[in-house]
Amino acid sequence: MVNGENRVKGICILGATGSIGVNTLDVVARHPDKYKIVALSANTQVDRLTEQCEQYLPEYAVMADKKSAEELETKLKDKNCSVKVLSGFDGLETIASLPQVDYVMAAIVGAAGLKPTLAAARAGKRILLANKEALVMSGQIFMDVVKKNNAELLPIDSEHNAIFQCLPVDYEKGLAESGITKILLTGSGGPFRTKSLSELTNVTPDQACAHPNWSMGRKISVDSATMMNKGLEIIEACWLFNTNPDNIQVVVHPQSVIHSMVQYSDGSVLAQLGQPDMRTPIAHALAWPERIESGVEKLDLFSIAKLEFEHPDYERFPCLRLAGESIRKGGTAPAILNAANEVAVASFLDNELRFTDIAYIVEQTLINMTSRPANSLTEILEDDLAARKEAEQLIDSRVKQG
Ligand code: NAD
Ligand code: MG
Repeated sequence: MVNGENRVKGICILGATGSIGVNTLDVVARHPDKYKIVALSANTQVDRLTEQCEQYLPEYAVMADKKSAEELETKLKDKNCSVKVLSGFDGLETIASLPQVDYVMAAIVGAAGLKPTLAAARAGKRILLANKEALVMSGQIFMDVVKKNNAELLPIDSEHNAIFQCLPVDYEKGLAESGITKILLTGSGGPFRTKSLSELTNVTPDQACAHPNWSMGRKISVDSATMMNKGLEIIEACWLFNTNPDNIQVVVHPQSVIHSMVQYSDGSVLAQLGQPDMRTPIAHALAWPERIESGVEKLDLFSIAKLEFEHPDYERFPCLRLAGESIRKGGTAPAILNAANEVAVASFLDNELRFTDIAYIVEQTLINMTSRPANSLTEILEDDLAARKEAEQLIDSRVKQG
């Protein structure tokens, strides 16, 4: 496999040390005849990235944090590991656009992933998109850059990957034109699905991060617990599949066996099922339109026995409502929602803010700020920054109130 479509594909992983990054390395390592790691990145996890460099021998390693990059360089030199070390946003954008990189796994968490993922789109790469926040913030601009540069966008989020698998190949002509009446976006309901509103007040970060079915980074775990994750996924689905929230029904499905469904006008509902293991969507997007072994255990329907479905509860999980409102409002509103949420979740994880106050901070930030049309990346990033400041002030006064 040297030439043409079958040559070994060069892979860049943005966010290699995280949950998605590690799962991607696991799948890639199973297929050395198909994929080669060209570049890896992390924020501050020097030891983990050093180990990954020793194991996968990339050409480049980037630490977003400059001091960590210096440490990484020293450690790699000590180990005689010749990897070019870069740092900061420039370094991330460089590795996302290298000519020897074919596929970019966008797995940085949060708004920090936006610029490097956009760089990959500008360079016309196949983007394996895990970083949903990038699309939430800049949906229209992002999709335009993908189109203009003939980049390929493949969803890694398990629901969106499932929907993609259930859509016809020519779905881009329009969902209605393809006979699709609804996207059924499933969600487990998170660790607090059955807790009452009063019980939710005193839950701890560790309880919030103990997801019943999925093992993930701490930010997305808290988002799953507030159901903001499902809200962000509604927005993500609107951009990926060129639709609106009226065509998306959230279905709570506690077993996380069905990863989402597509309903057609003739009454058919197509679903994608599988283990709750991110290596399935990662392998799917790497190999698409082919299929490769992912290392995921085969699904045993007999041991699952039962699949359940519930309506979402917007009272106990107001973040779901707030996300729906923000995409309906459009412009920079989703970027404001996302920024306020990132700040509030970080504050909750630092044991400063109560769990139920996350939704309060997001809602107040949206009320106090005026969104505007998202005409440029500059405007989006300005509103992201302003929303972070607003959310921080709200948290300060909330914490002082006790
Ligand atoms: P994680 O916290 O485990 O890993 C995040 C990665 O991003 C790490 O490598 C970290 O070093 C890097 N990073 C963090 N802050 C950074 C910064 N400021 N600059 C540069 N790099 C930075 O997160 P995760 O669970 O792997 O999630 C990554 C993304 O994938 C998120 O957007 C999440 O919503 C999405 N996602 C994750 C899962 C999952 O199962 N974990 C499922 C669906 C979608
Ligand atoms: Mg998901």
